[in-house]
Amino acid sequence: MSHHAIYDSMQEGCADILTPVCPFCGQQGWITVPQPGADALMEGQPVQDALPEVDPRLREQITSGIYPRCFPGAEFGDGIDPDLIHGH
Ligand SMILES: [Zn+2]
Repeated sequence: MSHHAIYDSMQEGCADILTPVCPFCGQQGWITVPQPGADALMEGQPVQDALPEVDPRLREQITSGIYPRCFPGAEFGDGIDPDLIHGH
């Protein structure tokens, strides 16, 4: 069983993952991933195996909830496709 909260996405062929509460800012986020990767997560595969194409910082957010921008020294949005990040 997966502990990830995964929902159908508005984007065809994709799924939205509700990320855990960030320990730094206390917010949850959404990350849109390809459906096959979401399926692999649901089957219990590690994030790095299920979503190898996703930015490592976003995989970290999926795992721990920590936003890329919340890492000490992180520059917000640096190198991350903004299409992957939903406001909420
Ligand atoms: Zn945060």
